[in-house]
Amino acid sequence: MITGQDTNFLKDKLHEVFGYHQFRGNQEEIIRSVLARKNTFVIMPTGAGKSLCYQLPAVIMEGTAIVISPLIALMKNQVDQMTTVSVDARFLNSTLTKSETNRVKQDILSGQVRMLYVAPESLNKEDNLAFLKKANISFVAIDEAHCISEWGHDFRPEYRKIKSIIDSLGNLPVIALTATATPKVQQDIVKNLQMENAQVFQSSFNRTNLYYEVRPKKNPQKQLIRFVKKHKGKCGIVYCLSRKTVEEVAELLRVNDIRALPYHAGLDASARVANQDAFLNEDADVIVATIAFGMGIDKPDVRFVIHYDAPKSLEGYYQETGRAGRDGLDAYCFMLYDHNDIQKLEKFNKDKPVTERDNARYLLQEVADYAESFICRRKQLLRYFGESFSQKDCTNCGDKCGTNLEKYKATEHLLLALKTVQATGERFRINHLVDVILGEYNDYIKSYDQDKLEMFGKGKGEDLDRHYWYTLIRQAFMHAFLEKDIENYGVMRIGEKGHKFLGNPFEVSFPKSIDLESTVEDDLEEQETHLQDNTKAHDEVLFDLLKKLRKKIAKEKNLPPYVIFQDPSMEEMATVYPTTRDELAQINGVGMGKVVKFGKPFIDLINKYVEENEIETASDVVVKSTVNKSKTKIFIIQQIDRKIDLEEIADSKSLSFDELLDEVEHICYSGTKLNLDYYIDQVIEGDRQDDLYDYFMSAETDNIQTALRELEEEDFSEEEIRLMRIKFLSELAN
Ligand code: ADP
Ligand code: ZN
Repeated sequence: MITGQDTNFLKDKLHEVFGYHQFRGNQEEIIRSVLARKNTFVIMPTGAGKSLCYQLPAVIMEGTAIVISPLIALMKNQVDQMTTVSVDARFLNSTLTKSETNRVKQDILSGQVRMLYVAPESLNKEDNLAFLKKANISFVAIDEAHCISEWGHDFRPEYRKIKSIIDSLGNLPVIALTATATPKVQQDIVKNLQMENAQVFQSSFNRTNLYYEVRPKKNPQKQLIRFVKKHKGKCGIVYCLSRKTVEEVAELLRVNDIRALPYHAGLDASARVANQDAFLNEDADVIVATIAFGMGIDKPDVRFVIHYDAPKSLEGYYQETGRAGRDGLDAYCFMLYDHNDIQKLEKFNKDKPVTERDNARYLLQEVADYAESFICRRKQLLRYFGESFSQKDCTNCGDKCGTNLEKYKATEHLLLALKTVQATGERFRINHLVDVILGEYNDYIKSYDQDKLEMFGKGKGEDLDRHYWYTLIRQAFMHAFLEKDIENYGVMRIGEKGHKFLGNPFEVSFPKSIDLESTVEDDLEEQETHLQDNTKAHDEVLFDLLKKLRKKIAKEKNLPPYVIFQDPSMEEMATVYPTTRDELAQINGVGMGKVVKFGKPFIDLINKYVEENEIETASDVVVKSTVNKSKTKIFIIQQIDRKIDLEEIADSKSLSFDELLDEVEHICYSGTKLNLDYYIDQVIEGDRQDDLYDYFMSAETDNIQTALRELEEEDFSEEEIRLMRIKFLSELAN
């Protein structure tokens, strides 16, 4: 068995199959863990490259890897992507006919299939299970593992049965992967899959290429149109709360000349598929969808995600915004926020059972806190996922970051808040803690006898209202004085730093609160220049041509364009101009497989473009001297046309006179007519010109040394002979 001990082996495979030069983040360690048949738990944000963590082992290991994935809609896509890199992958789901299913099974038994994508419900089917027991399975990958948890944003009951099914197939290593992992969800996954012994690989959730911004929803239609128009031609998703809004917004965009389509559960299946395909195939730029819908959009080049209405949870928000910029290029996350949206969402929950309703309310509260707070969005999101992040590290955050907020000394108040948390037994959520601090006499407080606490009502005072204390406690959480209880949603406990502070208080300052509403709507434009400031280094004209070509070929092959080449690869092409197959294979994300399948028309296009625009290409750089010559030659011809003295031309190109003559001869011999009379007339007298001309007319050879010897008596210099030979050749030969 290959354990992948050899670093080069894995790297070579990575390049050979996927065309990548380097592993990203901890991909390599993860792959080694899978190859060593260990249970592996991968927590990585969207776009970080989870798929590769099972795809590469699947290519290397013997047998077929089972990949469990929740969305049937995505499977075909994933299989297509594998096919473009010549990896045999299949899927098994309800869309296949009986004979197609049999075909897949046969090929798996023959051992040729590297990866089998299945939905959990297909795994449940008796005959599929019986079949899988016969097959040689290498390992099981559980993608979107958060579907196991009710605390995720995408709970799927069938996911809870996966573990027992895998067990029935034998002792198979499992790799579980997710992009959403609050500590609570992580715990659920580990418990449910019994992966306590697993190797855990957790990456930072910081999506550095995403730019987060929340704006008060004042004139949403205008705000939306303005935003989308600014990003015209770019592809994006707009999330809305209801189907009705989806339809209205899609229509609004359409009448404003934006190629937008709706997507919601109320559309019939064929319309949904058609709209999704149009989006994937670049026939529509914007898709407007309900947030309830888990779109299964795996498009890497989504450049913006707009929340026209508030999301239901921060997990959901992170996931939805996470669909932007999967290719690693900059993308924009823009939320229009109105507190009324939160109340509307709360109303939807009123018929739910009590616990479920409470849970939903806490999740919503987090959204409100996120949107209404003045703290760096990125920091808030990361803290929500249990990560600490220093705000000063954030250079790419919309409306809040970068504004130097005024600070105030919070030491005394922080002490009071932490003491309250402690004295109430670390069992309460923020609102209740604020009640105690403000001395609210309600039944709940009385039932706990909390009105007898020393802290009760200690926080009353001018300017010290509910909002103030609420914000202070959130700040205490953001700065890790407080932690949230994993088991009990929203319950605050003292963190390690909080204990230190309580034991020996030190000075603490928090930023002063600012009112979201006070930020002017019209600074939208100013905000957005931020994104566009990152001016592109690549050749935009060529990039657009490549995109058009990609779209055309995608149509012919019936594939989404990004399956052929992704944008970062094409940006690289538009930077280094690969003009041969080998050069194209060197582009990150291309590889020989894709060169063979799709390379030709792209190479042709680049060659034509390079020629027409006289661009120095990658191959020119390698054979440096020829490049310079070709560029220099053009320069020389132009200068001679303008009757510039040869000395001057030589000087301006830092050539010796001899070297310049070499160039000129070269130009001449390759067939270009040059008129050097203006120069020759200055430096060689008329009779001497005639003598030399006659000599070349009758000479057997145009060799200079021969001429020097034969014309010895006339005392011609080598330069004179060469100049006249050029004149002679130009006039007669060319
Ligand atoms: P995730 O499933 O984590 O959201 P994907 O597996 O879809 O992410 O990968 C995101 C993008 O990163 C894809 O476009 C993929 O081709 C690219 N990618 C993955 N690994 C690498 C790598 N080692 N080098 C370059 N690009 C990579
Ligand atoms: Zn920030």
